[in-house]
Amino acid sequence: MNLIPEPLVYELSSPGRVGVAMPDCDVPGTPIPAVFARPELKLPEIDELTAVRHFTRLSQKNFSIDTQFYPLGSCTMKYNPKVNEAAASFPGWLHTHPLVGDGYSQGALELMWKLQRVLAEIGGFQAVSLQPAAGAHGELSGVFMIRACQIARGQSGRTRILIPDSAHGTNPASCAMAGMEAVTIPSAPDGGVDLDALKAVLDDSVAGIMLTNPNTLGLFERNIEKIAAMVHEAGGLVYGDGANLNALAGILKPGSVGIDVMHYNLHKTFSTPHGGGGPGVGIVAAGSTLKDYLPGPIVAEKDGTYSFVRPSASIGRMKLFNGNFGVLVRAYTYIRMLGAEGLRRMAENAVLNANYLRVLVEKTWKLKYPRICMHEFVAMGDVAPGVRTLDVAKRLIDCGFHPPTIYFPLIVPEALMIEPTETESKETLDAFAATLATIAREAVEHPELLAQAPHVTPIGRLDEVAAARCPVLCYRG
Ligand SMILES: *Cc1c(COP(=O)(O)O)cnc(C)c1O
Repeated sequence: MNLIPEPLVYELSSPGRVGVAMPDCDVPGTPIPAVFARPELKLPEIDELTAVRHFTRLSQKNFSIDTQFYPLGSCTMKYNPKVNEAAASFPGWLHTHPLVGDGYSQGALELMWKLQRVLAEIGGFQAVSLQPAAGAHGELSGVFMIRACQIARGQSGRTRILIPDSAHGTNPASCAMAGMEAVTIPSAPDGGVDLDALKAVLDDSVAGIMLTNPNTLGLFERNIEKIAAMVHEAGGLVYGDGANLNALAGILKPGSVGIDVMHYNLHKTFSTPHGGGGPGVGIVAAGSTLKDYLPGPIVAEKDGTYSFVRPSASIGRMKLFNGNFGVLVRAYTYIRMLGAEGLRRMAENAVLNANYLRVLVEKTWKLKYPRICMHEFVAMGDVAPGVRTLDVAKRLIDCGFHPPTIYFPLIVPEALMIEPTETESKETLDAFAATLATIAREAVEHPELLAQAPHVTPIGRLDEVAAARCPVLCYRG
């Protein structure tokens, strides 16, 4: 807690104080045109040390995986090894201009080609496009591919996409963006897709289904092959939301259980820092039915030479140049550091950690589906009368933990979605479970502690909708 109020950098401004040493001007001086000079901006005049302290202090207010446990379900906030950053910072990668031409960027193309190959192998697919900049962007690409394929088959009347009610909100949003209609299918009591409900909606208006497996309840969809077969038989295609491959990589290849096209988030499973809205990559991978529709160009190899090629029925470009190339270098480094064996251990430990924590948490918290989970599980935050999940989440901040994902998936009331990831130690998991047990006790004995949390942050409860919709981004003195 900061007991001494922190002066804002604007308030430390002193006329004429400077923190930079500019070189002597070597061109004739020209007054700044009045249209560009905005004296009302009142930029702070400060020395270098004050600026350093200002930004360092701000950075310390940021919660990060490098400082604390961050069990944000569905987001896979694993540790991102620093070797990835070192590799992405090699000057050759950093300074390559995207317009330099294939002949001068063979190394970059080789990395992209190898990454395409290894990601195809991990998922059991035939080809990969590295273009999309996020998971949702990959979904949009995949839905465009499904649409293009259905049109090529003379099935342009197939405009509906089926989506289980446990799905991530980006799934229906991507359908709508692609001009398709999202149709919700309910979950069965065991948390999987309700097969009868699925059967009832399968007709010739269905372009395909979007499935997340493990689903957002952290449960493995045991009927995956049956579902894929039912959809295929009805003329539809199967989209896999592979944002989180943490439970599957090295164990199950989604391409081998009926998925036609899938995105994977390199910024979740393959360890690029994320959460601040920074650059990501949501690659799309496809099997034989859809590979010719992939966004292009993609990289091909012939006799040791790499070049860009456009898949024959490509939906076109989804991103300028080569996508977020730095993320590709990080993912490739991560995969090569682990190797096939290491990737499998990553997935096994992600599932083991989640189940270890689940069993501890179950002692004091209700679980909607108390069964073996994959990389995450969903608890319910209403541990005592009048206590809500939001209160629990805020109280966790006081205890030094990032709150889990809350109120998602939508089908679990007061959801608290916990994903520990494989990179956390037993000690951290024990400490987190002990804290949750303490909070459950507080909820009964001192509910006001929860209702008023967080107590240690510069600002307590805020209007979260207004903070997101109408943020105040500049100093208003
Ligand atoms: C994170 C996530 C997405 C969306 O990925 P973004 O990169 O945030 O667009 C989609 N589906 C699931 C299941 C996710 O967890």
